Amino acid sequence: MIFFRKPKVGQILGILGICFILTIFVLPTFSQANKKSQTKSVQSNFPLILRGGEVQVVIRNETSEKDWNQYAFEKTKGLLDAYESFIGVSFHQAAAPIYKSLPEPEKNKVKLILKEAVFLNGTRIGGYNNVSGDLGKDLGIFMEPGIVPRGYPALLLHELGHFYFTEPSWLSEGIVSFLPYLLTKKGTLKLDSEELSAVMDEWSLEEARPPKDLPLSQDFRTLDPSLGLWFYSKAVRTQMILYKELGNAGYKSFLKQVTLAETLNTEGVFKILNKIQKKNWDHILQGWVLAGPYAVYPVNSFLQLKEIDKL
Ligand SMILES: [Zn+2]
Repeated sequence: MIFFRKPKVGQILGILGICFILTIFVLPTFSQANKKSQTKSVQSNFPLILRGGEVQVVIRNETSEKDWNQYAFEKTKGLLDAYESFIGVSFHQAAAPIYKSLPEPEKNKVKLILKEAVFLNGTRIGGYNNVSGDLGKDLGIFMEPGIVPRGYPALLLHELGHFYFTEPSWLSEGIVSFLPYLLTKKGTLKLDSEELSAVMDEWSLEEARPPKDLPLSQDFRTLDPSLGLWFYSKAVRTQMILYKELGNAGYKSFLKQVTLAETLNTEGVFKILNKIQKKNWDHILQGWVLAGPYAVYPVNSFLQLKEIDKL
């Protein structure tokens, strides 16, 4: 699947997935604009001080878009700072389960790789996320410049969010797409109006309801890839429902508890929700997350920008 300019998160592989070919490239140590002639790669290492200490943002750029590195670093810094301050959990703590299984030199690194063409198993797919090593030894978030050009950071912000949120997928995919918007509205993240509309573009709100509309907990993306964009549309609007029901403080507390949970499934998410506010969550999320007809929130909830703006 190839996609340009208007990327959709539904089309980039998630944090878990199948394996991948490795690119042969030795990472130069600590260099600014260190050129590798045969690959035309430029690597930038940006040290980033966060609440739990330092992180290296390593950007390997194999394209002619050399200005991209500084831009991508600034967006990464902004997002991780905003996550730490809004959720109240340091990046180091949140990402510990991901780094746990990685060799020592790979820990506390955020690797972004920009390539003219990104392939997975011989198919050009535009981008994928392999920060956890499930897709092979070449770690990082792989992207083509057409997907994340300067000024259009939506997919980068989404993928970075997966350092905090990985499972269950209906929850994590919704949160990491919704948070850049919410954090910008709260003034915690600085995005200009075009960057913000890029984030909202990726919600796939224009996606039509399919004839067979399954609940998110069944992860129907894996059953039928053509339903991918509908999955993201439902997942992000589920976060709006939770935000509306919990309020700002309750939602922050929810995100914190989700981040700190060792492993989490749908049942665990409902336990957290009930701990924060006793409500009939089964009924509230019926049709969205759980099976059954839409109940409290109809299927067209939060499709209008003015409805989202009121949150
Ligand atoms: Zn994702």
